Amino acid sequence: MTGSFTAEERRRLAAALAAGTEPTCPSCGVQLDRRAVRPPASVSYVRSRVWLLCPDCRRSGAVDVREGGRP
Ligand SMILES: [Zn+2]
Repeated sequence: MTGSFTAEERRRLAAALAAGTEPTCPSCGVQLDRRAVRPPASVSYVRSRVWLLCPDCRRSGAVDVREGGRP
């Protein structure tokens, strides 16, 4: 299966990042590769954005991480 994480999956991944845990693929359970993405300046509310990619099923998605952890 390839494609993007769903909105619900991205929400869970963001929660995992906010909690300080390593996010894992919702499909495979393997640890996701994490790459930092510089958000556009126009999106000032986004403190940090990471691109998560599963090395197994190749699904991926961008997750916004807010400083402070709380959504
Ligand atoms: Zn996977």
